[in-house]
Amino acid sequence: MNVPVNEPVVTDAAKRYVMDALNTGWISSAGEYLERFEREFASYIGMKHAVSTTNGTTALHLALAGIGIGEGDEVIVPDFTIVSCLNAVLYTGATPVFVDVDPETFTLNPDLLEASITEKTKAIMPVHIYGHSCDMDPILEIAEKHYLFVVEDAAEVHGATYKRRKCGSMGTVSAFSFYSNKIVTTGEGGMVLTNDDRLAQEMRLLVNLAHSPGKRFWHEKVGFNYRLTNFQAALGLGQLQNIEEFLAHKKWLGEGYTKRLSDIEGLILPVTKDYAENVYWMYSLRVSDTLGLTRDELCGRLKEKGVDTRTFFIPLSSQPIAKQYRRKECPVSASIAATGFYLPSGLALTGEQMEYVCNAVHEVLSA
Ligand SMILES: *Cc1c(COP(=O)(O)O)cnc(C)c1O
Repeated sequence: MNVPVNEPVVTDAAKRYVMDALNTGWISSAGEYLERFEREFASYIGMKHAVSTTNGTTALHLALAGIGIGEGDEVIVPDFTIVSCLNAVLYTGATPVFVDVDPETFTLNPDLLEASITEKTKAIMPVHIYGHSCDMDPILEIAEKHYLFVVEDAAEVHGATYKRRKCGSMGTVSAFSFYSNKIVTTGEGGMVLTNDDRLAQEMRLLVNLAHSPGKRFWHEKVGFNYRLTNFQAALGLGQLQNIEEFLAHKKWLGEGYTKRLSDIEGLILPVTKDYAENVYWMYSLRVSDTLGLTRDELCGRLKEKGVDTRTFFIPLSSQPIAKQYRRKECPVSASIAATGFYLPSGLALTGEQMEYVCNAVHEVLSA
């Protein structure tokens, strides 16, 4: 058997909407599906405004540009995340400041935040990781105290909650990705959400080349073409209508893996804090010293059995493109990056595949 690390599910509604969008001829960045997808996604998360974008990376850039981040500013980002977070800061000309993460949730450690704030700090970018929320209350409190924007990266947590509040509803602005392995997908795509009317207007302007209001083809700002298309939005709208089933599948997957793997002493399984509802975007685990195999050895043996895995992100502070921004050590981020990986976690994963994956893990470890 071969079990891919991710396999998406495309719903019948999504296929119908995409065909409809194509049949109407509204195939670029205007159309009814874009409006509906933006409205319904914003309402699902619980934010007032939505602007769709080409992907999650451009969504983060648009969010930072929208709040006016630029050269001379500092933006605090967690050391353990995808490079998109770093790139978005670099695109604006601002300086990224890396902060270490919590060893259990892999998200921004609020206890380390204040020590990294300077007069130049303008924003904090908490990133919810692998389906689990950041500890938002202390982050929001510190942001308020220091007059900082909060740019929530919610790319991996569609539908997850923090103290019953949806992830992506708590920041000044939040960014989502709809890449094919994300819980709601448009193939490639993204969205920014905010409750701030002026910020929404600014992002709406910047996403489409910043044509001056009332004077088309006249540009007082450097905008972007980060526009999503109507048929991608049609796909997203169809997928969104199925989100409760997708989330139920993720919960089944998370609980199923935990039940079948909790007897293995050397594996550290994912933790769900009291404040969070975990959507298990990826079922992420870590290898401890007592396992007897390294992470790479384990993943290699699993691959031989047809089980596809992925190793964790490599810390931002160790990236060649971020050399000049290294300040403090981030030992937690370094340690989880070296020992973590995730198992097949796609929406198409079957019970049989899960059984196969868990048996493969047991076989490899008892050999
Ligand atoms: C996927 C992802 C992104 C980037 O999204 P793309 O659509 O691939 O550009 C950003 N942040 C996080 C945390 C992600 O997982």
